[in-house]
Amino acid sequence: MALLIDVKHPDWMTDEDLRAELLQQYPQADIRIGANPGNLDEIQMLTVSTYHCGEALRYPNLKLIQKTGAGVNNILADSDLPESVQVTRLQTNTSGGEMAEYSLAYVLQEQRHMRQYNQHQADSKWVAYAPRKARETTVAVLGLGRIGLLVAERFVNNGFQVVGWSRSSKTVDKVACFSGDEGLKQVLASADYVISVLPSTDQTLHIFNRSLFQQFNPGSLLINVGRGDLVNEADLVQALDEGLLAGAVLDVMSVEPLPSESPLWLHPKIQLTPHISGYHLGDAVLDIAENYRRLQNNQPLLHLVDRSKGY
Ligand code: NDP
Repeated sequence: MALLIDVKHPDWMTDEDLRAELLQQYPQADIRIGANPGNLDEIQMLTVSTYHCGEALRYPNLKLIQKTGAGVNNILADSDLPESVQVTRLQTNTSGGEMAEYSLAYVLQEQRHMRQYNQHQADSKWVAYAPRKARETTVAVLGLGRIGLLVAERFVNNGFQVVGWSRSSKTVDKVACFSGDEGLKQVLASADYVISVLPSTDQTLHIFNRSLFQQFNPGSLLINVGRGDLVNEADLVQALDEGLLAGAVLDVMSVEPLPSESPLWLHPKIQLTPHISGYHLGDAVLDIAENYRRLQNNQPLLHLVDRSKGY
């Protein structure tokens, strides 16, 4: 049984490096790389970061696609993906912790008026603002999964009021939890910051649209670290121009890399980063070797995606 690594994201992780790391865990494994896949009939497991529609059909005996990350929407969107192919992802506290840190950094930047001070320095202007108090500030975390819970915990530990929203109802220490459409309304009504850690599914596609932005507080900031297509980007620009919300921090965009002609680049109320909020996988990468072993031994796989739910 062969595992083919075809990450397609060499600036972040090369196929060769990942192969070397997995072979340390499982020296006898047949692990190949995209540049030299050998006989495609022998590939039963494929490991990708970027996935192209139709890719699974290249491997007639494919049983498993392992994502080197958490979001699997591009894989599940492939209408040619055979029902028999299972999909697994990674769940990592390392990149989840980094996403919590990223979100906190942007929130603290606002609380301490850092962007205004940068501007004032450029103008040689001495003006002081009172820092906004964490205990008087509400952070809403949309998506209370593996990563959303780490984000919520980080804000709780920094003294913020935290509310959360998920599909199923939850009880989380020091987080007021909501679900359903009415719950989302309540969450948005109270939020100064809205952090999206939702997956992209049929239900969440363009969830941030004009009618949702009308429920935001006019002074609030949206931070999207989930997936780009959660946001209707034209509606976001319009909502910012009309003052329905104060600003947006986008780590993920509906088309990546973001095309140079996109109005998001130069919008004064938008701050962009190139999909880096969660970067390092840490030890979670070893779960790929473990899933190879489990697939070979016909055992239950780690972090299996529920294809009917979409995450
Ligand atoms: P999980 O599957 O653990 O959690 C997903 C959460 O979203 C769950 O709480 C789930 O609710 C909730 N959810 C799903 N659908 C809905 C819905 N329709 N309405 C309300 N809530 C919903 O995922 P992770 O926390 O591991 O990852 C979240 C996302 O973060 C990934 O899918 C990926 O897109 C993104 N990501 C981005 C990275 C980056 O660098 N920017 C890096 C890593 C991940 P419930 O608990 O009820 O099931």
